[in-house]
Amino acid sequence: MMTRRQVLKITTLSTAATCTLGYVRLATAQGQISGGGNRAPAAPAGPFKLPPLPYPFDALEPDIDAKTMEIHHDKHHATYVTNLNKAIADAPDLANKSIDAILKDLNSVPEKVRTAVRNQGGGHFNHTLFWQMMKKDGGEPSGDLAKAIDKSFGSVSGFKEKFTEAATKVFGSGWAWLVADGKDLKIQSTPNQDSPLSQGMKPLLGIDVWEHAYYLKYQNRRPDYIKAWFNVINWDFVAQQYNGQ
Ligand code: MN
Repeated sequence: MMTRRQVLKITTLSTAATCTLGYVRLATAQGQISGGGNRAPAAPAGPFKLPPLPYPFDALEPDIDAKTMEIHHDKHHATYVTNLNKAIADAPDLANKSIDAILKDLNSVPEKVRTAVRNQGGGHFNHTLFWQMMKKDGGEPSGDLAKAIDKSFGSVSGFKEKFTEAATKVFGSGWAWLVADGKDLKIQSTPNQDSPLSQGMKPLLGIDVWEHAYYLKYQNRRPDYIKAWFNVINWDFVAQQYNGQ
């Protein structure tokens, strides 16, 4: 379950997102008049909203470039939200549930929309976390989280080594995660947009290794992207996730 602080934060973000969506609709209407263009489709009415980035597109430069952040958030994440809302339209009972609750119990999702909800809902949830898991000059883990990392992986550098290996080895598109499995910390990867939530684990930190997350700047050099990404981990957020479990 999300902590109260997260719920409040997301509620605030949703309000801001509604204003943003108003702009997107207007921009799309103008695009039709001028013959179209490569603009995001207008979001249909639906319970799930695209949260705004918690920082400017260029906040993570030079490690993650502004253009990648803009396309990743405004196009890729927006599309997961749009397609999740489309899927939910065929299973209206899900509209009253949080995305966390849905992903924790995919078997209760009607079969006709289960794959769509797993992929699009996973994409929405994973990316909502991903933006918060990064910040400029994120520092290093401290406190109870650092102790837990030392216990599970020997040291922070031991953790980084194992996490890098997992992220590098993801074949095709997917994610590498630091998760809490009960009291244990583990590193695991998931294919596509599968979320650790669906496996009964709590994601604390995750790196998106889909090519759309790094290709503009790093092309085929995924290891360089992973190395740079360690500079922008928001360890305070990771600690909140860990302490709030
Ligand atoms: Mn992504």
